[in-house]
Amino acid sequence: MVRQLEPPAAAAQPFTPMSESPSTEVPSTETPSTQPAAESSGAAVGARKDLVGLSRAELGAELGALDEAPFRAHQLWHWIYHRGATDFERMTTLAKSLRAKLADHYVIGRPAVRRDLTSVDATRKWLLGLADGHEIETVHIPEEDRGTLCVSSQVGCTLTCRFCHTGTQTLVRNLTAGEIVGQVMLARDKLGEWPSPNEERLLSNIVLMGMGEPLYNFDAVAQAMQIVMDHEGISISRRRITLSTAGVVPMIERCGAEIGVNLAISLHAVRDELRDVLVPLNKKYPLAELLAACRAYPGLNNARRITFEYVMLKDVNDSAADARELVRLLQGIPAKVNLIPFNAWPGAPYECSTDEAIQRFGDIVNAAGYASPVRTPRGRDILAACGQLKSASQRARRSAAPAEPAPSA
Ligand code: SAH
Repeated sequence: MVRQLEPPAAAAQPFTPMSESPSTEVPSTETPSTQPAAESSGAAVGARKDLVGLSRAELGAELGALDEAPFRAHQLWHWIYHRGATDFERMTTLAKSLRAKLADHYVIGRPAVRRDLTSVDATRKWLLGLADGHEIETVHIPEEDRGTLCVSSQVGCTLTCRFCHTGTQTLVRNLTAGEIVGQVMLARDKLGEWPSPNEERLLSNIVLMGMGEPLYNFDAVAQAMQIVMDHEGISISRRRITLSTAGVVPMIERCGAEIGVNLAISLHAVRDELRDVLVPLNKKYPLAELLAACRAYPGLNNARRITFEYVMLKDVNDSAADARELVRLLQGIPAKVNLIPFNAWPGAPYECSTDEAIQRFGDIVNAAGYASPVRTPRGRDILAACGQLKSASQRARRSAAPAEPAPSA
């Protein structure tokens, strides 16, 4: 699955914020980044291993190897994931000798912040450097009643969806569990959310909608989400986590059974001929199989629906007939439909549907009883919208000036 490794390049993350707030084109601000002591997560730093991303059992095994009682893992977990400590010296419930021993062997790392951009609408985007020099982006979208973190699961993506900029990026590797959790921990550092607040969190929700296909990196994603959901740590409920997939059918059931998070499906077309082109993975797992897997997803009911993402492409997939066919396909699935205005990028082979076409499409879906909100991009002035992040990162490095306003969706 892994293609060629390019020089660690810009992130091209198809970030898809979900908000109705208007965005404006006033220049953004950039926050100077303060680097934590240890950079990188999920990797060895020098001779010292990063503890971020280890499961509770793995943490216990590390302590066992140091001839420490495995139950110490409980205390260590609390410091790492509830208090956000990155310095063993601060772990005052541990004996001084243990703290010293831990510091000799381990680090509690964070990805390095290469850029920290804040939009006029308060959306915030971090360009993060990994231990091997690759870069990914993570985006925080504050809203009135929640704050959502859009997290990446791979560097790049192998799927080559026709409308997605990330599909044009060569290379790729899976992120480790530590690098996935590390995005959440870094965001919590930046938002000042340690120890874990009980309510009113700035980071209350997670969407696995960044760069990459999370179901192609299932083990690391699952381990990372188990850590993030753990009640004695970051403690974000599975009901506040949404995993988006282009439709890796065999993994959908495991996703439901093993992590039980909300599911979003990047559908984008209602006929196999077209979906084969837009989302080539469809040739492997065609619509009928995909929808059958959705029907079987555990725990669905009216309060817990699958989100079907549908990018609006002018004269390609946006007709009234398409909308009616979508309604037919969704029959019997507790579902909502998220209409995503296409964000153009240089050389993109499509245009965004007209407002009228989007409205007509949404009305038909809505009349059939499915909520069909239109997803309005957030953070456009920092080029954080879907499919724009690759060029944003490249541009950002060339110039310290605020990013230009993005082309409208
Ligand atoms: N690989 C997973 C996770 C990525 S989610 C998946 O496909 O679901 C990213 C979302 O952004 C997907 O729904 C994708 O269809 C959407 N997207 C990508 N490029 C876009 C663009 N240029 N305009 C609008 N939406 C886009």
